[in-house]
Amino acid sequence: PVVTRFAPSPTGFLHIGNARTGLFSWLYARHHGGKALLRIEDTDKKRSTQEAIEVILDGLDWLGLDFDDDTVFQSQRADRHAEVARKLLEAGKAYKCFATPEELVQMREDQRAAKQPMRYDGRWRDRDPGDAPQGAPYTVRIKTPESGETVIEDAVQGRVKVDNREIDDFILLRADGTPTYMLAVVVDDMDMGCTHIIRGDDHLNNAFRQVQVIRAMQDVEEGWTEPTYAHVPLIHGNDGAKLSKRHGALGVRDYREMGILPEALFNYLLRLGWGHGDQEEFSRAEAISLFDIAGVNKGPSRFDMKKLLNMNGTYIREADDARLARLVADRIGPDTDIALLTEAMPVLKTRARDLNELADGATFLFTRRPLELTEKAQALLDDEARGRLATLAERLQSETDWTLEALEASLKAYAEELGLGLGKLAQPLRAALTGQTTSPGIFDVLVLLGKEESLARIKAQAS
Ligand code: GLU
Repeated sequence: PVVTRFAPSPTGFLHIGNARTGLFSWLYARHHGGKALLRIEDTDKKRSTQEAIEVILDGLDWLGLDFDDDTVFQSQRADRHAEVARKLLEAGKAYKCFATPEELVQMREDQRAAKQPMRYDGRWRDRDPGDAPQGAPYTVRIKTPESGETVIEDAVQGRVKVDNREIDDFILLRADGTPTYMLAVVVDDMDMGCTHIIRGDDHLNNAFRQVQVIRAMQDVEEGWTEPTYAHVPLIHGNDGAKLSKRHGALGVRDYREMGILPEALFNYLLRLGWGHGDQEEFSRAEAISLFDIAGVNKGPSRFDMKKLLNMNGTYIREADDARLARLVADRIGPDTDIALLTEAMPVLKTRARDLNELADGATFLFTRRPLELTEKAQALLDDEARGRLATLAERLQSETDWTLEALEASLKAYAEELGLGLGKLAQPLRAALTGQTTSPGIFDVLVLLGKEESLARIKAQAS
């Protein structure tokens, strides 16, 4: 059975690039009826605060990525990591290195001066540990192959390989006995039974090292099966450079605050680097049934905010009105009339691309008289316009059928009498009713505000 894992480090935010590989891992497991596991790589004590962990869990929850089993916390597994290092040591697949930090600095300086690649030269690999002074501190280093090459059949990148001379005997356990990241990741992946490692291609170089640990452990312990790696190309900004702060928001939470719907971000991240024909929108069920690694692009994908917003607009129009009303009410403030918002939603949501726009478009429903008019709206209300509003108020006063159709007929008739286009009449009316120059259709506005409130607002601006 397929077992995948998503292994974010708590850095204070859930990077959308990470969220995307998390999504891919989750989808792959769901597609194959396997398990999607979550591991928090919280070994950096300074950054890994409870709050930083919550940010990740919240973001995943909001996106609807429900992982299986208990969340694994890497920091709690240090003993097991050390145990694996000791086993490798006993099996002669790792060794104690007594080189002092000063010695290693000197080694690198010499290598730099000689224009040689800087890597550990294996000076303790074949040396007798008895040569070291009694009780001297040591690190544990893995014995990596000295010749040949390491080949990985990557599910996205294809066959990738590295000359083994480029892989030095890297450290598994530090002098203080704590495991290195390189060791911890592999031990956890294996103990969690991961069959597929789907992650960003910035980890491809690590994979060449991580498989050394797996291959060494295969003779030592049961169950060390090399997983299938799938290194997914990173997301780039619209200028083609790796996505970074200067391209705008990076965290899932930022998008949530911007008023992006979770299903829109889910779909956008899915489409970013994965495709199925030219289909643009996928329901969760469709995504699960169609997702496979074969559809993942080999080249980097470009993050396009405009496209995300357009997609979000589509999802807003498809979303349930009562749900949208609740989300918008959260943005407008407490005591917002949810029933009225829900009723207005079909009209409000036709153009909005995010929830904040939706909230802005809805405020006219809740502003109290006297309305504060924008400068542009005020400019529309000259003497002539105010005179017409007065007449209009009288005519509407006797309107008994306060419906879209009746109001439209009535306003058109008046515009015709005046020899004006409907727009000329509607613009000052909109200003009076909403305080703004843009709003939903003018008849919708009248209906949503109701007769009493509409007349009061018109009269307040009429002369
Ligand atoms: N914790 C690593 C990161 O956030 C990912 C490690 C992995 O996927 O192997 O970049």
